[in-house]
Amino acid sequence: MPEETSIQFLPGVGPKMAVKLKRLGIVTVRDLLFYYPRSYADYSNPQNIGSLRIGEDAIVKAKIFSINQARTRRKWMSIVTAELADDSGKIKAIWFNQPYLLNVLKVGQEYLFSGKVCWDFQKKEKSLAVNNIETEPIILPIYSETEGITSKYIRKLVRPLVDHSDTYEVSDGKKIEEYLPAEILKSENLINISDAIGKIHFPKKLIDIDAAKKRLAFDELFLIALQMLINKKELLNNNAIALKFNKELLKQFVNKLPYKLTNAQRKSAWEIILDLEKTIPMNRLLEGDVGSGKTVVAAMAVLVAAKAGFQTVWLAPTEILANQHFINVSKLLKPFKIKVGLWTSANKKSNLQKDDLIIGTHALIQKDITFKKLALIIVDEQHRFGVKQRSFLRTAESKVRKANTVPHFLSMTATPIPRTLALAFYGDLDLSIIDEMPEGRQKIITKVVAPESRQNAYNFIENQVKQGRQVFVICPLIEPKDALKVNLFESDRKSVMEEYDKLSTKIFPKLRIGLMHGKMKSSQKDEVMEKFKIGKIDILVSTAVIEVGIDIANATVIMIESAERFGLAQLHQFRGRVGRGVHQSYCLLFSENQFENNKKRLEAMTACDDGFKLAEIDLKLRGPGELIGIRQSGLPDLKMASLSDIILIKKARGYAETIVTEGLEKYPKLQNKLDEMASEKHLE
Ligand code: ADP
Ligand code: MG
Repeated sequence: MPEETSIQFLPGVGPKMAVKLKRLGIVTVRDLLFYYPRSYADYSNPQNIGSLRIGEDAIVKAKIFSINQARTRRKWMSIVTAELADDSGKIKAIWFNQPYLLNVLKVGQEYLFSGKVCWDFQKKEKSLAVNNIETEPIILPIYSETEGITSKYIRKLVRPLVDHSDTYEVSDGKKIEEYLPAEILKSENLINISDAIGKIHFPKKLIDIDAAKKRLAFDELFLIALQMLINKKELLNNNAIALKFNKELLKQFVNKLPYKLTNAQRKSAWEIILDLEKTIPMNRLLEGDVGSGKTVVAAMAVLVAAKAGFQTVWLAPTEILANQHFINVSKLLKPFKIKVGLWTSANKKSNLQKDDLIIGTHALIQKDITFKKLALIIVDEQHRFGVKQRSFLRTAESKVRKANTVPHFLSMTATPIPRTLALAFYGDLDLSIIDEMPEGRQKIITKVVAPESRQNAYNFIENQVKQGRQVFVICPLIEPKDALKVNLFESDRKSVMEEYDKLSTKIFPKLRIGLMHGKMKSSQKDEVMEKFKIGKIDILVSTAVIEVGIDIANATVIMIESAERFGLAQLHQFRGRVGRGVHQSYCLLFSENQFENNKKRLEAMTACDDGFKLAEIDLKLRGPGELIGIRQSGLPDLKMASLSDIILIKKARGYAETIVTEGLEKYPKLQNKLDEMASEKHLE
């Protein structure tokens, strides 16, 4: 592919500005064209002066009645003021340090002014701090800015590109071409790509923006769906080792369990086992609420692989979890003589060539480790693996690829992502859902505790500890210094350091308080966890590191500070830390932030104990960006599309399916577009 024209060679840029533009992610001319405005200033639709409110950004169409200049006493700064009026009222306009306006603006003439409505404390009147003046009723794009790069500057760069041609040169002789098939454009009533780019930057009418957004949003979802389906198809071209199962053995396994599997567990296990039998690699996501029993389902897959003579690697996001799995899964598989090893940075108790199952953390994939007979990779809490770690996983996979097969892949998550979103995000995976809890699970009593009832809550906790129970206290921050106030309306977030001090010296001086957070060494964390497990700690103050999978049957209370700071899905995960034993358990939510939206979210926690429903509620109240797992999902940012637009997601996926079925080779321009996106990703 020819190098695309660097932004540096546009008139008015040069090396210095190029560096600044890079901060906005703009490196090439193409980047600039796809740098969409954040919002617009609509001069075609001015407001009435009479109805302006203090604090708002406004645009008015007004006549100048008088114009004057004054100087501040300090620093001798120029202040130009003008009296403006329209039919609805009068207002004073102010400009700082722009004395030349005296010669430019004409008394008696009408202009369009945009600015912020302020309160002049001295004169006790409303005024308009003007930031732009226009003579025509245009719609101006506003871009996200950075130091040294204003919207005005970006407009100056984009304007000629948009004006002088309706197809855009992004390198010598190469233009942005339409890549969507004409049939899709027609049936979805979408404008073409160059039109869309022109209209998103410089719309003539407001409906131009809608048309452009509609097209660009479709593109985002469609291209993601298409790429995923292609990945899926490519994966199917690979060979995997067919792992035949032994029905009798599986029966024995199920019969030896101290409980009866739920139907959802059986169904998921069956889907997995049938996948393993094939010579095409499994690529499946096992989704199930906290405590729904995913581990035992995955253990059945291990059993199948091991008895077929092959190895499994089971990756956990934390040492704590790897240790816990090592203990639990070893127990499950012990009667079947399966050799289980552990491999974390602290604990390397495995013969990697001989063990049937190696449970570990990313320590397993960081080093140049190879396996002799790897046929299955299980990734637990896969959303907890960052983008970087995911690429490690891919390397692990490619190591096996050399042997001409790829391993079967099973990822698990307790993030209850609604099915439609899962399709958008994990569209290349098959989905098994455990949507049913084991019988006899107790209901955890959840309460939002008002600030004035805090002492009652502490008394309650003390009482629980007296009865021999244990307690989690969760805070969003490690240290108070992280608690930068974002704005006046935000209350401080609690930190584990402060709460630990407070609880151990003032509130519960006689109880044994433990502390855990992500900056501790993993050996320290393990030590604390171990102490908690054997009952040497009564109250464990922790950050979200405790979130996943920890199993302490004796813990009955989880108290969450600054609860509004967490997503509902995450709060639900925290809640899953208690209620694991025979004792009635409680989840106490504290929040000093009383905003309506937050209240609603926390109330949803008290009313609902279904993780999937909670995720849907969060999706409605906060939007998809806040769902855990999604922000980290490694997908390109969506600039135009919204993940709550389920209908569009489905449509885009439908078209992508048609195209993949017909064969992408029939659509060379689409193929080019995907290649181009792939090469952009490599550059990052
Ligand atoms: P998660 O899906 O959150 O990973 P786990 O696999 O850790 O859940 O299971 C949580 C607990 O439920 C474990 O103690 C496990 O032994 C138990 N469990 C799993 N399946 C069942 C079942 N069908 N009936 C009763 N208890 C079960
Ligand atoms: Mg689990």
